[in-house]
Amino acid sequence: AGGQKGKEQDLSWREETVAKRLEYALINGIDQFIVDDTEEARLAAKKPLDVIEGPLMAGMNVVGDLFGAGKMFLPQVVKSARVMKKAVGHLVPFIEKDKGGAVQSNGKIVMATVKGDVHDIGKNIVGVVLQCNNFEVIDLGVMVTCEKILETAKRENAQLIGLSGLITPSLDEMVHVASEMQRLKFDLPLLIGGATTSPAHTAVKIEPKYEGPVIYVKDASRSVGVAQALVQPETRIELVRKTREDNARRRERHAGKSRLKPQLSLAQARANKKDIAWGDYEPPVPTFTGARVLEDIDLKTLKNYIDWMPFFNAWEFHGKFPDILSDPVVGAAARTLFTDASVMLDKIIKEQWLEAKAVAGFFPANSVDQDDIQVFTDAARKQQRLRLCHLRQQRSKPEGQSHECLADFIAPLDSGIQDYVGAFAVTTGFGVDERVKGFEAHHDDYSAILLKALADRLAEALAEYLHQQVRKEYWAYDAQENLTNDDLIEEAYRGIRPAPGYPACPDHTEKAKLWELLDVESAIDLKLTDSYAMFPTAAVSGFYFSHPDSKYFSVGKIARDQVESYAKRKKISLDEAEKWLAPNLGYDPSEADAA
Ligand code: SAH
Repeated sequence: AGGQKGKEQDLSWREETVAKRLEYALINGIDQFIVDDTEEARLAAKKPLDVIEGPLMAGMNVVGDLFGAGKMFLPQVVKSARVMKKAVGHLVPFIEKDKGGAVQSNGKIVMATVKGDVHDIGKNIVGVVLQCNNFEVIDLGVMVTCEKILETAKRENAQLIGLSGLITPSLDEMVHVASEMQRLKFDLPLLIGGATTSPAHTAVKIEPKYEGPVIYVKDASRSVGVAQALVQPETRIELVRKTREDNARRRERHAGKSRLKPQLSLAQARANKKDIAWGDYEPPVPTFTGARVLEDIDLKTLKNYIDWMPFFNAWEFHGKFPDILSDPVVGAAARTLFTDASVMLDKIIKEQWLEAKAVAGFFPANSVDQDDIQVFTDAARKQQRLRLCHLRQQRSKPEGQSHECLADFIAPLDSGIQDYVGAFAVTTGFGVDERVKGFEAHHDDYSAILLKALADRLAEALAEYLHQQVRKEYWAYDAQENLTNDDLIEEAYRGIRPAPGYPACPDHTEKAKLWELLDVESAIDLKLTDSYAMFPTAAVSGFYFSHPDSKYFSVGKIARDQVESYAKRKKISLDEAEKWLAPNLGYDPSEADAA
């Protein structure tokens, strides 16, 4: 399965001793001969366990050292792990037969993606990398409740707990886990990682809840060093001391920052909204209103719409695509990864491993109350359907820059102009889980992670493709558009497709309105978790705005006046609004209460 096909294979390493061959296979991630070589080593050894503790561990140590020295990269390490797992998989029945004892591990870590969240590519990579470094990893999977994580850690006598999350509501759940660890008198180190987490959030929100060590881990590459330092008493003290210091410094800096940052009042920000001359504007009329399910989307079409950069980022390659393929340092590893990905992508397409599903719709709409968008059931706008609630930037900005809010891109109700808003939801995630199970049964984490990363890419590609169809056919305001995939990735087209949970509309709960407008669950079977993560994971959903001035932006920090207004408009309590908008609050709700 490795990237060896098509190339002239150099098999001179097959002449070496069996120990050397095992090492070579591990370092180069070649699983072709691993079972035979392992069997040969087992026959020569006193007991099967000796093969693991001898040549296999020695080989993995070399892998660990090369990785630590920046001479091997994540995909290579994950492939090495596959070779290791296959070798161990071959030995286990023999070890059980002669009750040869268990391998002495570096330590045990319980890992999980927290409740409400379904993303696990990063967590799985960390798990594999830690296993490579001889940690025993108990991976509880995704959407794991706090109780289950803590129970498992206790029962298994784990040395470490690692939490992962990708969407912002997971941040709150991590704070909850930390509080529970305190209440239940845990003292294990708590490791925090995943795209939504940050050193600041860890220091400001999580550490104060738990007296044990709380450590932010930036990426899989760092996880090894941190885990190793924590399981050894000598290094642990120093790491914990340094982390506490760093966290304290971050808290101070954070406190200083929120006091310094000047914010406009909501009224001031609104007074400086983008000035769109609605009088001279005629919004394009979509070719249909209401929701429509797209049938028979060809995965082959989607291949041409893939943005590869995020794929390489998922494997911790940084830089631009395709330049990364010719990079003097990472180029060879990136090329092999790209070849493996391309081979699998062709299989996904040819053997129809995945199913692409999409629903899109257009709705009569006008902006109301400055920051909201009222959706109507009818073109005459007699009957209200629901209201999309949006947020406005409140940070101070240089003269001449407006304070953006998505509602500004839709004609105001009192202008009398008939405008529209679009909505979409897409997924390419059906079929992933079954395949992943198959790969895992064959000790093949590499292919499992590769598939998940490709499914994510196809979902984004489907969002891109559908958006193009919208501009050319469904909303048809740019029928003549003729852009390359690079142009599409650069967003060189007219209109945007902001997604709830992203910077221009950070409130994940607004997804519920998309689900309602498009009846997403019946249409394409895509579901929302209680933290508003989409399931299956390989999915994108959002709104369409067609106005030529519509642009992505980041709402950033907002003040309490806006959160109060938002809660009122959305008909939820202030507490509830503060909970979902936590990452955007430019104030501390507990302090504001006193004022
Ligand atoms: N081409 C990239 C797009 C990543 S952004 C890729 O293939 O991964 C993912 C999605 O988030 C976009 O499709 C768009 O729907 C949305 N998005 C991007 N920037 C945004 C912003 N500032 N606010 C709201 N949504 C945004």
